[in-house]
Amino acid sequence: MRPEDILVPTPAGVRCKRGGFHIDPTRPVERALITHAHSDHARAGHGAVLATQETLDLMRLRYGADFAGSTQAIAYGERVTLDGATVTFHPAGHVLGSAQIAIEAEGLRIVASGDYKDVADPTCAPFELVRCDVFITEATFALPVFRHGDPGGEIAKLLHSLALFPERAHLVGAYSLGKAQRTIALLRQAGYGAPIYLHGAMESITRYYQSRGIELGELRPVRGASKIELAGTITLCPPSALKDIWTRRFPEPLTAFASGWMRVRARARQHGVELPLVISDHADWNGLTATIAATGAEEIWVTHGQEDALVHWCGTRGLKARPLDIVGYGDEDEGANAGDDGADP
Ligand SMILES: [Zn+2]
Ligand SMILES: [Zn+2]
Repeated sequence: MRPEDILVPTPAGVRCKRGGFHIDPTRPVERALITHAHSDHARAGHGAVLATQETLDLMRLRYGADFAGSTQAIAYGERVTLDGATVTFHPAGHVLGSAQIAIEAEGLRIVASGDYKDVADPTCAPFELVRCDVFITEATFALPVFRHGDPGGEIAKLLHSLALFPERAHLVGAYSLGKAQRTIALLRQAGYGAPIYLHGAMESITRYYQSRGIELGELRPVRGASKIELAGTITLCPPSALKDIWTRRFPEPLTAFASGWMRVRARARQHGVELPLVISDHADWNGLTATIAATGAEEIWVTHGQEDALVHWCGTRGLKARPLDIVGYGDEDEGANAGDDGADP
């Protein structure tokens, strides 16, 4: 039994022949299993969708009630048999509801991890290591230069800036699904108790996080707030809004951007960011390589970013590895093509 007898990489995403489904397909298919709700992984227009309740709810929020022909929610750890394959979903630690999908058939276990991170995040279930024969990994930050460090230290920089410039409004660019809510939760963990303001594009997803029991403290819409009221406050907005005339409503706006890409100075400059904050929802180089080793997998499929470096690293460890040429990932959150905005509705 070869892994390719169970899962086949296609340009539209990996397809499970035995189970008759695709994982995170980039084109409409009959049956889709979705790892998480970022728009490059979760698209509208599939026949049947199997995903965690949170992923289904977030898709509904973004695409409307009829985003798929039918939906089925699956809990972490629950086993579902689809024709000749058994699937289970396990926390990926990436955003609320995010999952790695394990597929078992003929005694072989393949894990498609979607996007993941192996560090603590107060807004989602922690990454669960799943032992497997074949591990499909993302490679967004798969270069040794990427070490994300401690997000708490980045939050401390933001709070320090606020103390130094109490008259300036601090605008933090962050992707609307996941990063924004995590940044708020990290601010609360650091003891910041003042109301935090939200750009309109962040409101519904953030309210949804709160409805799932994620503590984010007092949040206020920017809409309707006076310029004076916004002095010395923190506002979360989509990265694209940082360059928008929208910023004119703020007194002496100071722009920050929370992203793993902020490790690269040129990226921060390109966005005109005064305060780069290295906070990522993807594993860094150490996280990727440690996770690959810990899965015990002897074969690694690499997708979604800097495939070459990771494939090479696997080779040095005696692991069989191949890049998957799937077009269309990395258009939201911090993916390779998302550097410019990551803007969503
Ligand atoms: Zn993602
Ligand atoms: Zn992704």
